[in-house]
Amino acid sequence: MVNKSVDILFPGQCLVCGQTGTRELDICIACQESLPRNDPCCSRCALPLTSLKADGVVCGDCARQPPAFERIIAPWRYEAPLDRLMQDLKFRHRLPVGRLLGELLASQIPSGPLPSLLLPVPQHPRQLHNRGFNHSSEITLALSRSTGIPWSPWLLKKIRRTNSQHDLSRQERLKNLKGAFSFDNSSRHRHVAVIDDIVTTGATAREITCTLKHSGVRQVEFWAIARTPIQR
Ligand SMILES: [Zn+2]
Ligand SMILES: [Zn+2]
Repeated sequence: MVNKSVDILFPGQCLVCGQTGTRELDICIACQESLPRNDPCCSRCALPLTSLKADGVVCGDCARQPPAFERIIAPWRYEAPLDRLMQDLKFRHRLPVGRLLGELLASQIPSGPLPSLLLPVPQHPRQLHNRGFNHSSEITLALSRSTGIPWSPWLLKKIRRTNSQHDLSRQERLKNLKGAFSFDNSSRHRHVAVIDDIVTTGATAREITCTLKHSGVRQVEFWAIARTPIQR
């Protein structure tokens, strides 16, 4: 219903520059090609790296202490125009942006064994009530449609409200999130991907991985649109 009305309102318009988009995506070819690639980046946590290195290299943090998740896929860096697009989705409820981001992300997933389930990073019910929607769910819905991988907005839950992660050190962020999530794995999924718009420190990824692995999941991946450059 929402998508139908959206198609009438934005018929193939590029959501970045307003020119005509392509037939497949609501973004024109020039804007798509100008998206800031996250390359080179750490092959485990997708942290942007500065020097040109061969594929498969990991950052210092991942070399010292390999994360429990398999990998983070974040094809782009959190720079213009993605920062504006994500704010349009999150704070101005521009839902077609969620669809575009999900479709763009789907086109960047490398071939290989795919997860059996996609899970949006959840919001606490009160936060969800205040905002009215979960932007990660909008991205996951489009990603699921494009890849054919089922998704669920209900199985992974945020069960405890947490303070803002801003201005917290890395250790404080992990402590802040401890025990904040729960996962119902009665379908015994072994390989899942968790979807978000942006990965900043990776603290959320680490805590969710801990929750999922306690429920019997063996392989956890995180798929996000963009990665910020600073690891704290
Ligand atoms: Zn454009
Ligand atoms: Zn890394």
